[in-house]
Amino acid sequence: MCDIIWCKKEVGGKPCDTINYLDPYCFWNWEGKINCAECGTVYFIHMIQGFMYKGPEERPGEKPDTMPLYADKPYDGYSNYRPGVEGRTRPYECKPRAQLLGVADMVKFSIRGRPVRGWRPQPPSAGLAGSFGFHWDIQKLTPDVWEEYQKKIAAGEVKDW
Ligand SMILES: [Zn+2]
Repeated sequence: MCDIIWCKKEVGGKPCDTINYLDPYCFWNWEGKINCAECGTVYFIHMIQGFMYKGPEERPGEKPDTMPLYADKPYDGYSNYRPGVEGRTRPYECKPRAQLLGVADMVKFSIRGRPVRGWRPQPPSAGLAGSFGFHWDIQKLTPDVWEEYQKKIAAGEVKDW
Protein backbone atom coordinates (compact mmCIF):
# COMPACT_ATOMS: atom_id res chain seq x y z
CA MET A 1 0.00 0.00 0.00
CA CYS A 2 1.41 3.31 -1.02
CA ASP A 3 0.20 6.88 -0.83
CA ILE A 4 0.28 9.15 -3.82
CA ILE A 5 0.44 12.78 -4.79
CA TRP A 6 -2.00 13.32 -7.61
CA CYS A 7 -0.64 16.50 -9.14
CA LYS A 8 -3.43 18.79 -10.36
CA LYS A 9 -1.20 21.72 -11.24
CA GLU A 10 -2.35 23.63 -14.32
CA VAL A 11 0.32 23.39 -16.98
CA GLY A 12 -0.36 25.00 -20.34
CA GLY A 13 -4.10 25.24 -19.63
CA LYS A 14 -4.43 21.56 -18.69
CA PRO A 15 -4.11 19.89 -15.31
CA CYS A 16 -0.89 17.93 -14.92
CA ASP A 17 -2.79 14.84 -13.74
CA THR A 18 0.29 12.88 -12.86
CA ILE A 19 0.29 10.36 -10.04
CA ASN A 20 3.50 10.41 -8.05
CA TYR A 21 3.85 7.27 -5.97
CA LEU A 22 5.22 7.56 -2.44
CA ASP A 23 6.74 4.15 -1.88
CA PRO A 24 6.21 3.14 1.74
CA TYR A 25 9.78 2.12 2.59
CA CYS A 26 10.96 5.60 1.80
CA PHE A 27 8.08 7.77 2.93
CA TRP A 28 6.45 5.86 5.81
CA ASN A 29 7.86 8.31 8.37
CA TRP A 30 9.08 11.21 6.37
CA GLU A 31 8.98 14.98 6.30
CA GLY A 32 10.28 16.96 3.39
CA LYS A 33 9.77 18.12 -0.15
CA ILE A 34 9.24 16.05 -3.24
CA ASN A 35 8.74 17.04 -6.84
CA CYS A 36 6.11 16.03 -9.35
CA ALA A 37 7.81 13.91 -11.98
CA GLU A 38 5.95 15.59 -14.82
CA CYS A 39 5.73 19.32 -14.13
CA GLY A 40 8.33 19.65 -11.36
CA THR A 41 6.00 21.29 -8.86
CA VAL A 42 7.48 20.90 -5.37
CA TYR A 43 5.23 19.56 -2.62
CA PHE A 44 5.86 19.48 1.11
CA ILE A 45 4.58 16.41 2.93
CA HIS A 46 4.82 15.06 6.45
CA MET A 47 3.95 11.39 6.85
CA ILE A 48 3.73 9.60 10.17
CA GLN A 49 3.32 5.83 10.13
CA GLY A 50 2.09 5.97 6.55
CA PHE A 51 -0.53 8.58 7.32
CA MET A 52 -0.43 11.90 5.48
CA TYR A 53 -0.24 14.12 8.53
CA LYS A 54 0.48 17.33 6.62
CA GLY A 55 0.35 18.21 2.97
CA PRO A 56 0.80 17.87 0.16
CA GLU A 57 1.35 21.63 0.12
CA GLU A 58 2.81 23.40 -2.85
CA ARG A 59 6.16 25.05 -2.22
CA PRO A 60 6.84 27.23 -5.23
CA GLY A 61 10.46 28.11 -5.90
CA GLU A 62 11.85 25.60 -3.37
CA LYS A 63 14.11 22.67 -4.14
CA PRO A 64 12.88 19.12 -3.53
CA ASP A 65 14.68 16.87 -1.05
CA THR A 66 13.92 13.79 -3.08
CA MET A 67 12.06 12.59 -6.13
CA PRO A 68 9.35 9.99 -6.50
CA LEU A 69 10.46 6.52 -7.47
CA TYR A 70 7.73 6.10 -10.06
CA ALA A 71 4.98 8.19 -11.58
CA ASP A 72 2.33 7.67 -14.21
CA LYS A 73 -0.46 9.42 -16.05
CA PRO A 74 -3.67 7.40 -15.93
CA TYR A 75 -5.50 9.70 -18.36
CA ASP A 76 -2.73 9.31 -20.90
CA GLY A 77 -2.68 5.62 -21.59
CA TYR A 78 0.22 3.83 -20.01
CA SER A 79 2.68 6.69 -20.08
CA ASN A 80 4.87 6.69 -17.01
CA TYR A 81 8.21 7.59 -15.54
CA ARG A 82 10.16 4.58 -14.40
CA PRO A 83 12.83 4.80 -11.70
CA GLY A 84 15.96 6.76 -12.54
CA VAL A 85 14.70 9.27 -15.13
CA GLU A 86 17.06 12.19 -14.66
CA GLY A 87 15.46 15.18 -12.96
CA ARG A 88 12.12 13.38 -12.62
CA THR A 89 12.39 10.15 -10.67
CA ARG A 90 15.09 8.81 -8.40
CA PRO A 91 16.96 5.60 -9.18
CA TYR A 92 15.97 2.47 -7.34
CA GLU A 93 18.45 1.78 -4.57
CA CYS A 94 17.96 -0.97 -2.05
CA LYS A 95 18.34 -0.08 1.56
CA PRO A 96 22.07 -0.03 2.31
CA ARG A 97 23.27 -3.21 3.96
CA ALA A 98 24.80 -1.19 6.79
CA GLN A 99 21.32 -0.19 7.93
CA LEU A 100 20.11 -3.77 8.15
CA LEU A 101 22.47 -5.18 10.75
CA GLY A 102 19.97 -5.71 13.53
CA VAL A 103 19.67 -8.91 15.52
CA ALA A 104 16.63 -11.07 15.01
CA ASP A 105 14.31 -11.21 17.99
CA MET A 106 13.74 -14.86 18.90
CA VAL A 107 10.12 -15.27 19.89
CA LYS A 108 9.25 -18.41 21.80
CA PHE A 109 5.65 -17.60 22.72
CA SER A 110 2.82 -15.98 20.84
CA ILE A 111 0.93 -13.01 22.22
CA ARG A 112 -1.55 -15.52 23.72
CA GLY A 113 1.25 -17.35 25.47
CA ARG A 114 1.35 -20.40 23.22
CA PRO A 115 4.69 -21.75 22.00
CA VAL A 116 5.67 -20.88 18.46
CA ARG A 117 8.28 -22.53 16.26
CA GLY A 118 10.38 -19.53 15.42
CA TRP A 119 13.34 -20.06 17.70
CA ARG A 120 16.65 -21.73 17.13
CA PRO A 121 18.63 -23.80 16.94
CA GLN A 122 16.49 -26.58 15.61
CA PRO A 123 17.89 -30.11 15.71
CA PRO A 124 18.88 -31.69 12.38
CA SER A 125 15.99 -34.12 12.80
CA ALA A 126 13.68 -31.18 12.14
CA GLY A 127 14.25 -31.79 8.46
CA LEU A 128 13.86 -29.23 5.73
CA ALA A 129 13.95 -25.70 7.17
CA GLY A 130 13.16 -27.05 10.62
CA SER A 131 9.62 -27.80 9.54
CA PHE A 132 8.95 -31.00 11.51
CA GLY A 133 5.92 -31.66 9.39
CA PHE A 134 3.01 -32.19 11.72
CA HIS A 135 5.10 -33.45 14.60
CA TRP A 136 6.24 -30.88 17.04
CA ASP A 137 7.13 -32.47 20.32
CA ILE A 138 8.09 -29.48 22.41
CA GLN A 139 8.60 -31.50 25.54
CA LYS A 140 11.20 -33.70 23.88
CA LEU A 141 12.83 -31.19 21.55
CA THR A 142 13.06 -28.14 23.76
CA PRO A 143 12.50 -29.09 27.37
CA ASP A 144 13.35 -25.57 28.54
CA VAL A 145 10.55 -24.06 26.45
CA TRP A 146 8.21 -26.78 27.61
CA GLU A 147 9.03 -25.97 31.22
CA GLU A 148 8.49 -22.27 30.62
CA TYR A 149 5.17 -23.10 28.94
CA GLN A 150 4.02 -25.11 31.97
CA LYS A 151 4.85 -22.17 34.21
CA LYS A 152 2.89 -19.86 31.95
CA ILE A 153 -0.12 -22.18 32.08
CA ALA A 154 0.10 -22.33 35.86
CA ALA A 155 0.33 -18.54 36.04
CA GLY A 156 -2.75 -18.19 33.83
CA GLU A 157 -0.77 -16.45 31.08
CA VAL A 158 -2.01 -18.73 28.30
CA LYS A 159 -5.15 -17.56 26.59
CA ASP A 160 -7.25 -18.58 23.63
CA TRP A 161 -8.18 -15.01 22.72
ZN1 LIG B 1 2.62 17.80 -11.91
